[in-house]
Amino acid sequence: MSILQKIKNTVRSRSIHVAYVDVGSCNGCDIEVLACLAPRYDIEQYGIYVHNNPREADVLLVIGSVTPQWVDKLREIWDKIPDPKVAVAIGNCPISGCVYARRGTLTSPPAEKYIPIAAQVPGCPPRPTEILNAILSVAPLIFKDYEEKQP
Ligand code: SF4
Repeated sequence: MSILQKIKNTVRSRSIHVAYVDVGSCNGCDIEVLACLAPRYDIEQYGIYVHNNPREADVLLVIGSVTPQWVDKLREIWDKIPDPKVAVAIGNCPISGCVYARRGTLTSPPAEKYIPIAAQVPGCPPRPTEILNAILSVAPLIFKDYEEKQP
């Protein structure tokens, strides 16, 4: 492994940039993600930083049951994130539609129909510790030795 790759692996393990998108939720999962930023969970102590701009992100957190208005926008946001990148579905909504998965509701889950989802964090809502665990466990799998794995 090259020295440059070793440096990138080390830096990336302590510098994970996260963006999140709500594609039709009740806000319950948003609040749990925001709790990760608060002093009690302090997401930055793990080297995770939250951005509004997907162009600066490595990890996209997807929240909500995917309303039709969000289908194209979700793909656009995903396309804006530079490689290497990973998406994580937060809560039951992007996995199954949760309470919105019933006749008459305008939702179209799961989120993995539209973008690749590398990890799912079930729960209604999941706890902040579970969200943190998912980011910390999935990101290194995607980013480690990324450049050397390219053809
Ligand atoms: S999973 Fe539950 S808490 Fe999260 S957005 Fe859906 S309904 Fe709300």
